[in-house]
Amino acid sequence: MLFIILIALAGFVAGRIAAVWAASSIDPSIQIGLRACTSCRQRFPIVRQLLTILRPMKCGGCQRTEGSWPIAVSLATAAAFGWLAWLLQHGCQTVTEVRPAMELWQNRLPYYLVFVFLLTTATVTDLLDYVIPDSIVAPGMLIALAFATLTGELQLIHVWVNWDYDFVMLYGPYLPEWMKQHQHLHGFVWSLCGLLTGAGLMWAARITAHLILGMPAIGFGDVTLMAMIGAFMGWQPTLCVLAVAPLVGLLLGLGGRVVTGRSFVAFGPYLCIAAYSVLCTWRMLWEGWQLKLIFSHWPTIAGMVAGSLITFWVLLVGLRIFRAVPSKWLR
Ligand SMILES: [Zn+2]
Repeated sequence: MLFIILIALAGFVAGRIAAVWAASSIDPSIQIGLRACTSCRQRFPIVRQLLTILRPMKCGGCQRTEGSWPIAVSLATAAAFGWLAWLLQHGCQTVTEVRPAMELWQNRLPYYLVFVFLLTTATVTDLLDYVIPDSIVAPGMLIALAFATLTGELQLIHVWVNWDYDFVMLYGPYLPEWMKQHQHLHGFVWSLCGLLTGAGLMWAARITAHLILGMPAIGFGDVTLMAMIGAFMGWQPTLCVLAVAPLVGLLLGLGGRVVTGRSFVAFGPYLCIAAYSVLCTWRMLWEGWQLKLIFSHWPTIAGMVAGSLITFWVLLVGLRIFRAVPSKWLR
């Protein structure tokens, strides 16, 4: 329990760093209250931005107190860190096929805490300014690829598990020999396949959504964000993220955050929440819902991809119609 509390405290600090990093990554002309006073425009020193962690920023000049959204970011990150650590200890990612030499929390927890930190930063920049800067996701992709290759045992699931043979029932799932012998190569291939899956499908969704709606609806930042998510999670969980994200969008989007005048929909937060949800429920998805059977069968994978894309388009068209409704009708 003390361990979980320490992880949550680390999350509180990481949330603050994410907020300051996000604030410094977006358009300097946007007034957000963390970088500078929104009244007299006096800049706050970066050290003060990082250290004023428990109360809102206060301007030394005009005594104005700024908003408390960075504290909300810290609290949310603390909860996300603590919850993931607790769930990892209780086997939320423990599946039969993957048996790393170390306990999951020893290598996978630090890896996925870095991931959650990057997801938090991307969410904040997307909410503040509808952008996901490359300065956040590009290092993320490199970290994911590098650590997956170096340890060779971070995969949520191997790059391919074949359940089709009869002897699987007797001896467990079939793993290709090269995967067992070349652990680091497999780690690299695993991460790279996820990266390409995430980027490729989001790119396809972006192009087709543009064609369907006649205007850009998904930003390029969402494509790079999905590339990072893929690199951290592998291709099978990435497909799950893409399937879950429109549902998250429907649930939260109808709450009103997306009903703004901007032409872009802030998809990033939905993708990040979907990624976190899949991290927390991976064993349930893989073993409980028997996704392992789907992911050794190409036709079903193709069907799932098509289904996710169609859900995306329906969500986009729905949001467009919803936004086109004059606001007086909603009152
Ligand atoms: Zn001021």
